[in-house]
Amino acid sequence: MSVTGIDQTVADAELNELTRGLRGSVVRPGDEQYDAARAVWNGSIDRYPAAVVRCRTPEDIRHGLAFAVARDLPLAVRGGGHSVAGFGTCDRGIVLDLRSMANVEVDPDRRLAVAGPGTVGAEFDQATQQHGLATTLGVMSTTGIAGLTLGGGIGWLQRAYGLTCDNLVAADVLTADGRMVRASQDANPELFWGLRGGGGNFGIVTSFEYRLHPVGPDVLCGLAAWPAEEADPVLRRFREVAAEAEDELTAIAICRTAPPAPFLPEEVHGRPIVALAACYAGSVEDGEAAVAPLRDVGQPVGDAFAVRPYADFQSMFDASWDPGFQNYWKAEYLAHLDDDAIDTFARYAVAHTSPLSDFKVAAMGGAIARVGESETACSHRDAPYVLNINTRWQDPQDSERHIRHTQQLFDDARAASAGGVYVNFLGDEGSDRVEHAYADDTFARLQALKREWDPDNVFSHNSNIVPATD
Ligand SMILES: Cc1cc2nc3c(=O)[nH]c(=O)nc-3n(C[C@H](O)[C@H](O)[C@H](O)COP(=O)(O)OP(=O)(O)OC[C@H]3O[C@@H](n4cnc5c(N)ncnc54)[C@H](O)[C@@H]3O)c2cc1C
Repeated sequence: MSVTGIDQTVADAELNELTRGLRGSVVRPGDEQYDAARAVWNGSIDRYPAAVVRCRTPEDIRHGLAFAVARDLPLAVRGGGHSVAGFGTCDRGIVLDLRSMANVEVDPDRRLAVAGPGTVGAEFDQATQQHGLATTLGVMSTTGIAGLTLGGGIGWLQRAYGLTCDNLVAADVLTADGRMVRASQDANPELFWGLRGGGGNFGIVTSFEYRLHPVGPDVLCGLAAWPAEEADPVLRRFREVAAEAEDELTAIAICRTAPPAPFLPEEVHGRPIVALAACYAGSVEDGEAAVAPLRDVGQPVGDAFAVRPYADFQSMFDASWDPGFQNYWKAEYLAHLDDDAIDTFARYAVAHTSPLSDFKVAAMGGAIARVGESETACSHRDAPYVLNINTRWQDPQDSERHIRHTQQLFDDARAASAGGVYVNFLGDEGSDRVEHAYADDTFARLQALKREWDPDNVFSHNSNIVPATD
């Protein structure tokens, strides 16, 4: 038995052997770093792997994978560890933690960047923004680019430049049987198709190559906020702007509790607010004009729209999203924001069960919708909105109340469903919900691809695509 009280699945002698073959290191039950090493962003996830392999090279990944496969152990692959379902850790298996592999090389002339699989948004933006370049990444800078890209990738540049996966030009992939292959439009194109939306189902990506675009470094971006009681007119304005917006404008409506942010008056702190946040991926002058209608609704209690470095905006919301809290998320693409949907959101905007929670409606469309439904494995490209309910709280004893509230909001909002969910916002919600993430044709094609590249489902700690059977 280990000090954690769980059976030690793999003998110390075998873990010594695993360690000897690595440039990186192995953290095992009983080690001082074990609790930190097994943890992921979502504090509701409490799993006890047999070992966490901190990989430093592709060869380390291959070695760790072979070790797990040879012993038929569960395998979890971790990039930034942000999967809310906790796919970046596992019980009694091997975690391949790639977080140390975070190098980013930029070729400014060709507008390309090659990034390691442990890179997080802030590291990528820092490297690319030195050249005034960027690609779409998530709206928080702490998220891993690996999971983000493989599931799709929505963020502040999405309407101008598409999803993160739309900007992937190639990937190096370690397959379940230990081969290293390239995936691009020219090399293994079907695998490349599946990597852009199908998650970590087909192999372990050891390097990602992205197309970059001129962005900033300064952009017009920020948010304005109102008391949540104003949600109805504010969300109506959001709908009007989203329907007409130029591609350069990406906007998100956020309902949450006001943090003690300097741009908000003290009397608002701790009160429910509705905010409209946006980024304009074009000239500052055009941006001023594009965001003006988002700011011009009644009397905002705070307005933090400004010209600021794009990289600063990317991390502006990080402080509200610290790791370690309890989480329960529900999400769905929305077909519209009709009056009933706005009425629903306005009701829930004043009724959060936790000051750490929010729900957001992001405007999609633009460049996302111009990519054909069968061009990548990322489905539901014609949905004009995506809803993401992020319920977070501190005390695990309190979970039932928060989960029930989230489920009620989700059920009520589903009247506006576009018939699909964004895979990266899924919790561990079962195979039906994974299927719901994909168009029917896409799902069948992903299952066939899975049979080709991972017939034994070695990569199953993910929104799992079960291999097709005859
Ligand atoms: C605070 C927060 C903010 C978020 N914001 C956004 C957002 O703005 N936009 C958005 O689209 N999503 C967002 N997400 C969701 C996010 O995209 C997913 O959680 C994504 O999976 C995170 O990637 P990761 O590498 O950090 O996660 P991990 O938990 O490390 O991995 C997620 C999945 O990818 C697999 N995986 C990881 N690395 C590899 C690899 N190298 N090869 C193959 N498979 C791999 C894992 O096995 C796992 O199944 C957010 C999540 C959080 C918690």
